[in-house]
Amino acid sequence: MKNSILSIVVPCFNEEEVLPTTHHELSMLLDRLIKNEKISNKSTIIYVDDGSKDKTWGLISELNSSATYACGIKLAKNAGHQNAVMAGLMEAAKASDMIVSIDADLQDDVNVIEEMVDKYHEGFDIVYGVRSSRESDTFFKRNTALAFYKLMHVMGVKTVYNHADFRLMSKRAVEELDNYKERNLFLRGIVPLIGYSSTSVYYERHERFAGESKYPLKKMLNFALEGITSFSVTPIRFITSIGFIIAFASIFAAIYSLVSYFTGNVTSGWTSLILSIWFIGGVQLLSIGLVGEYIGKIYTEVKGRPRYNIETILNKDLK
Ligand code: UDP
Ligand code: MG
Repeated sequence: MKNSILSIVVPCFNEEEVLPTTHHELSMLLDRLIKNEKISNKSTIIYVDDGSKDKTWGLISELNSSATYACGIKLAKNAGHQNAVMAGLMEAAKASDMIVSIDADLQDDVNVIEEMVDKYHEGFDIVYGVRSSRESDTFFKRNTALAFYKLMHVMGVKTVYNHADFRLMSKRAVEELDNYKERNLFLRGIVPLIGYSSTSVYYERHERFAGESKYPLKKMLNFALEGITSFSVTPIRFITSIGFIIAFASIFAAIYSLVSYFTGNVTSGWTSLILSIWFIGGVQLLSIGLVGEYIGKIYTEVKGRPRYNIETILNKDLK
């Protein structure tokens, strides 16, 4: 157990206010885990500077030269939270056995990392950090988040409810992640697809202790849209269904307008107008949906995701 190297990946975008405290807390945690012989003393904390405009990178290099555990990766420009986490995970997997990702603002409880490590030693490859309540959130954020998870579920995207990007992954799980070549990254949706054994640990989420959220409403909406459109062709199917319904309804519209025509109480031109509006409308939507089906196929193809992921192979040494 004490030979397992842990890396903690921390994406940082303009986080000068929180970094020193964050490093203090995380190193104390690593000290404790090493003392309890749960991880190796080669364990590290990897700060990924996601193109910060403030002193974040300066602080990271300072920590790297003067403090224990601190490593740094500087991205050339702001690539977004998901890509920053991905960069950290990929670098970390080269030299560690398990990797935890956590936000720089420590809204997630660092102490449950110990529980995550225990679960890793029990044999789990993926351990999700799940918020047990959303009391520290505003009414607005709580309800929009809930609506988001529900919508994702309806769209057929498998995500872990109330789990953000605070999780532990084994080296092989991270390596598998590398086979998901898509550029529109939504880790929460991809990680469950990997399929290795997983479990959850629960914690209370705190408020950000300093600095401001880097996820304003606009980024949040983009993120939600990204999550849905990167995983689901349901919106395209929706167009096809509406097309079907309208084309079907046009039969009734036809009967109704023809009956009205023969009973004589219509203005001239009305029948042909109504008939064509319904019919053409239905046909158009159906056609768009049909084209969409092909786009949907192209979209799943270009993502080039792996078809399967082998868990174990049992071989006979044939001589
Ligand atoms: N972050 C990042 N790049 C970005 C935006 C955010 O690396 O473009 C990092 C940020 O430094 C933090 C984490 O992503 O460590 C989550 O951001 P934040 O806490 O602001 O989001 P919130 O908790 O408000 O959703
Ligand atoms: Mg935060």
